[in-house]
Amino acid sequence: MRMTRFFGKTLREEPAEAETASHRLLLKSGMIRQVASGVYSYLPLAWRSLRKIEAIIREEMDAEGGQEVRMPALQPQELWEETGRKEAFGQSLFTLKDRRERFLVMAPTHEEAITLLVKANVRSYRDLPLLLYQIQTKFRDEARPRGGLIRVREFDMKDAYSFDADDEGLARSYEAMVRAYKNIYRRCGLPAVQVEADSGAIGGKDSHEFLLPTESGEDVMLQCPGCGYAANAERAESVKPPQPQDEEVPLPLGVVHTPGIKTIEELSAYLGVSKSKTLKAVFYSSDGQAVFIVIRGDLEVNEVKLKNLLHCRELRLLATDGEVEGAGLVAGWASPVGLKGVFTVADDSIKQGSNFVVGANRPDYHLRNACYPRDFQPDVMADIALAQAGHACRRCGTPLESRRGVEIGHVFKLGTFFTERLGAAYLDRDGVQRPIIMGCYGIGVGRLLAAVIEQNHDDKGILFPPAIAPYQAHLVALNVDDPQVSAAAEDLYLRLERAGLEVLYDDRQETAGVKFNDADLLGFPLRIVVSPRNLKQGSAEVKLRHEKEAQMVSMDEVVERAKATLQGQKEE
Ligand SMILES: [Zn+2]
Repeated sequence: MRMTRFFGKTLREEPAEAETASHRLLLKSGMIRQVASGVYSYLPLAWRSLRKIEAIIREEMDAEGGQEVRMPALQPQELWEETGRKEAFGQSLFTLKDRRERFLVMAPTHEEAITLLVKANVRSYRDLPLLLYQIQTKFRDEARPRGGLIRVREFDMKDAYSFDADDEGLARSYEAMVRAYKNIYRRCGLPAVQVEADSGAIGGKDSHEFLLPTESGEDVMLQCPGCGYAANAERAESVKPPQPQDEEVPLPLGVVHTPGIKTIEELSAYLGVSKSKTLKAVFYSSDGQAVFIVIRGDLEVNEVKLKNLLHCRELRLLATDGEVEGAGLVAGWASPVGLKGVFTVADDSIKQGSNFVVGANRPDYHLRNACYPRDFQPDVMADIALAQAGHACRRCGTPLESRRGVEIGHVFKLGTFFTERLGAAYLDRDGVQRPIIMGCYGIGVGRLLAAVIEQNHDDKGILFPPAIAPYQAHLVALNVDDPQVSAAAEDLYLRLERAGLEVLYDDRQETAGVKFNDADLLGFPLRIVVSPRNLKQGSAEVKLRHEKEAQMVSMDEVVERAKATLQGQKEE
């Protein structure tokens, strides 16, 4: 492709709205353009790269026995009501009404549709296992689209679904998908980390996410350098820091005057006790019902664990004093001691330690030496604390480390949640009808492109991994007005194309500075420069994007050298 004919322009200035490196580079390189919040057009460079990512995904899915299908984005709303997911998705679900007043959903995922498809085509155990996938456009009305292609409202996703007769079959399908995902990330140049993930309230079993470590990521993972344990912070377990054992004898409950002292930080400083010697009260609304949480002062509530525990649809922190007082509680000095009529959940950390400082349920007073179970008994006791860096690993005791990351894939053992609700069953060897066992596996294609750029860039631009670069080579002709240069560059361009290389040929009348800046910004693996100076020696300059020094290669050997260099890059 000649740049004089090429559709898409690089930007000279930095895009002000960019939130992450990939967002900035996708805009600056002219690869994407925003149409509405979280809705983008892909220009040729992005589309070429996305098609290559899709091809890699297809190859790896097919290698594990996957069969590609295509399901509609537009689906009847009743289907989503039948599985309860209309409510579960809530406002994230795009809905619309047709001319006959029937409600439709713009699907954010396809578990319902694929289950019906399989139900209509599977009779017996002989029809199983099945692995079906599609690469298709999804819709989610995200509250806060962000980061260019990281969180969008319309996006392409590879979603795969496995159907098995038993749990062993599901385990094999799950392993196959984990293997495929690892291959996909490796081929795209992404050092993804597999972490345990929350499997949510729908009764799923195992679930893993693949996270790309990056500072701009929304997810937090906890990793153990000792044994390799890795989990999303939402899901992670840890050993809570123990209490000193010197005060095991419960002391008598006492009142202490704490004028204006409301937060744990203030309390700990005012009384000169460590935060772990205090109990913190946190208040939530669980589907409209007030819930009182008690947790040791040095820990934070993990809202995902709490939501799973309460089996609620909506969990909301009561944020203002007014809301807290509306629930009959004393904001700042609330306490489980003597509390009546409010459902109370305690983190099991309160069992580690005694003689805690806790609110007195009246303004400006706290209690000393509160002990569980002597002074209060919660309705439920469970692990609802957020694991934190520095907490000990449950498996080996090594202190955990935390890192931010962006989710670039999710695999999930669904079990029979959808097949039971939608009646997808098979007859086993004994003629007994059983629900089919299901798994689902997703990778966002656009997000993968963003992640690749997030991972592979420098201050000048992108460094595309060869397998998914829009073009493999950037041919730059300097001084195109010089007939010798233009003839030599034209000839080389045709020879490179004939040899099967994908080449973007910069034949514009621009300065060397502009051309080199664009080549670095677009970041194709190989740059080849034809200039009057090099031509005098019968040579061109060949340089890999990530290398500093160019090599002089005789014009006759450029094609072979380019092919060999790219081949070497692919094998690295
Ligand atoms: Zn460990």
